[in-house]
Amino acid sequence: MRKMMNVSYGKQSIKQEDIDAVVEVLKSDWLTQGPAVSQFEEAFAKKVGAKYAVAFSNATAALHSGFKVLNKDISKKVLVTPITFAASSNCVLYESGSVEFVDIDPVTFNIDLNLVEEKLKANPNAYQGIIPVDFAGLPVDTEKLKQIADRYGLWIMEDACHAIGGGFYNSKNEFIKCGQGIYSDLTSFSFHPVKHIATGEGGMITTNNLSHYKHLMKLRSHGMEREVSLFEEATHGGWYYEMQELGYNYRMPDINAALGTTQLKRLDTNIENRNVIATKYKNFAKETNLPYQVYDEKKFLNGYHLFVIQSDRRRELYDYLKLQNIYSQVHYMPVYKHPYYQRNGFSEVSLPHAEKYYSKALSLPMYHSLTPDVQEYVIDTLKEFNNGIR
Ligand SMILES: *Cc1c(COP(=O)(O)O)cnc(C)c1O
Repeated sequence: MRKMMNVSYGKQSIKQEDIDAVVEVLKSDWLTQGPAVSQFEEAFAKKVGAKYAVAFSNATAALHSGFKVLNKDISKKVLVTPITFAASSNCVLYESGSVEFVDIDPVTFNIDLNLVEEKLKANPNAYQGIIPVDFAGLPVDTEKLKQIADRYGLWIMEDACHAIGGGFYNSKNEFIKCGQGIYSDLTSFSFHPVKHIATGEGGMITTNNLSHYKHLMKLRSHGMEREVSLFEEATHGGWYYEMQELGYNYRMPDINAALGTTQLKRLDTNIENRNVIATKYKNFAKETNLPYQVYDEKKFLNGYHLFVIQSDRRRELYDYLKLQNIYSQVHYMPVYKHPYYQRNGFSEVSLPHAEKYYSKALSLPMYHSLTPDVQEYVIDTLKEFNNGIR
């Protein structure tokens, strides 16, 4: 009998250097937003090759603030993929804006850029922006997307919460990192523990646009300005600051940021490990004819937050794995299928590829500290299921 192991679909990894960094903050004068946040922002911007990075309390807060910065005309719609975490589109609804879901490409599971173009052609003035999601870690071809978006005056806020460390070669054969801001106006990242870098809760936006950067900094802290040269009124003295717009408390604490900086140092090995794990899953999927996310591997570097297979017996497989203490997950039900969306104008929406995808999708355990023996246990269990051994 094989030993039973407990395996989750995602997991953080905390090392002594992470613990030391947090303890150092606890002994310092700052707990909430302070020097560790600026350090993390600088290191992050450098890592992804962007000019600016703004840390947030979480990626949902980052997306909300990002939409507030880019929103030009609330009567115009925002295009979103349905196969994502609800926060990708909720950020528009927070501002009473409207979203329209575009079906996915059944092979890459990312938003179908041809369908995006068709929608824009049919209704050139109806939309203001698009929120593409680098699903499972596979970057959207934002070079191609930007060509389409520019023709119709759309902004791009890339939700790269799955794809830190990912990127692709553009038409000039330059490697473009997710978050570099070459084709996207803003790019968001999450540091929730199931993601690549864990800070407890945390998020980040990167951009190369100085005015977006300043606006984001203000929004995350109540819309308040402390820089004398930017005051609307004459200063009343050294204590004076102004609230210039309605902002939020979306700040990241220094404790979290310290964790982010040490974890960021391990990003490259993290992505390498995830790609090694993915290759083993892919070999298994090929052998057993299970569909999985297929893409041009010479062009794209997948960040592999998730590894998704498609199974005709998904529900049974999920239950079978659970009996063996392997906790797989489903990412995602199409966002518009959630009861809130159904009750609020999306009950007629039907996107065939997204719905077919959802009916079969299952995310296998994928995290960078997943060891070969644990992955073997997962693959052996999958094989048992396939062979009808119960
Ligand atoms: C995790 C995630 C978010 C939200 O991140 P939080 O930091 O938990 O708010 C948004 N979009 C996508 C695609 C995600 O995976």
